[in-house]
Amino acid sequence: MTFFLLFHVKQNKMFNSRYDVIVVGGGHAGAEAAASSANLGAKTLLVTMNLQTIGQMSCNPAMGGIAKGQIVREIDAMGGYSGVVSDLTAIQFKMLNKSKGPAMWSPRVQSDRAQFALKWRELLEKTPNLDFYQDMVVGLIVEKIKLKELLLALEIRFILNLLF
Ligand SMILES: Cc1cc2nc3c(=O)[nH]c(=O)nc-3n(C[C@H](O)[C@H](O)[C@H](O)COP(=O)(O)OP(=O)(O)OC[C@H]3O[C@@H](n4cnc5c(N)ncnc54)[C@H](O)[C@@H]3O)c2cc1C
Repeated sequence: MTFFLLFHVKQNKMFNSRYDVIVVGGGHAGAEAAASSANLGAKTLLVTMNLQTIGQMSCNPAMGGIAKGQIVREIDAMGGYSGVVSDLTAIQFKMLNKSKGPAMWSPRVQSDRAQFALKWRELLEKTPNLDFYQDMVVGLIVEKIKLKELLLALEIRFILNLLF
């Protein structure tokens, strides 16, 4: 469950900065969203429940397969990190479904699970414009269809100014 919020953050106890984009959740989708947002020049905050599990793979340490394999290549063509991290931590590359027609072929890499998460974290930490915060988002305050505040479990409150 990853969702992306576009707003400015006003002052609170921990941060004085303003953010253009806040990404909630540091799974594969959130890590990629945070990287692309920051690399596009937006001041970005990644809020996730556990900073140790950013980009963590599931029990099957693989990237790819039908649909996801194609998406990872498309993300790679657009300058994303998923393919880069997969290559850097790869144990085995395989094109699945070769016995079927080309429409069914799907690239998949098996990676070192621990190295994969470490490499993601390393690349994100080197990305300019990107800050991290560990906590659980427990609520959003919306007024007149505009998002005003992001509430975190530790009672940190980001007050928001919408960009549009
Ligand atoms: C059994 C299994 C096998 C799989 N095999 C493969 C495979 O072979 N190849 C492949 O490519 N993919 C595989 N996947 C899929 C892969 O794991 C998912 O595609 C990927 O992890 C999804 O990433 P995500 O970012 O969408 O979500 P998640 O990885 O679920 O990340 C969500 C993140 O959001 C954080 N979060 C959630 N709620 C909040 C909140 N309120 N506040 C703050 N943070 C929050 C969570 O802590 C988590 O870090 C498999 C998945 C499973 C379960």
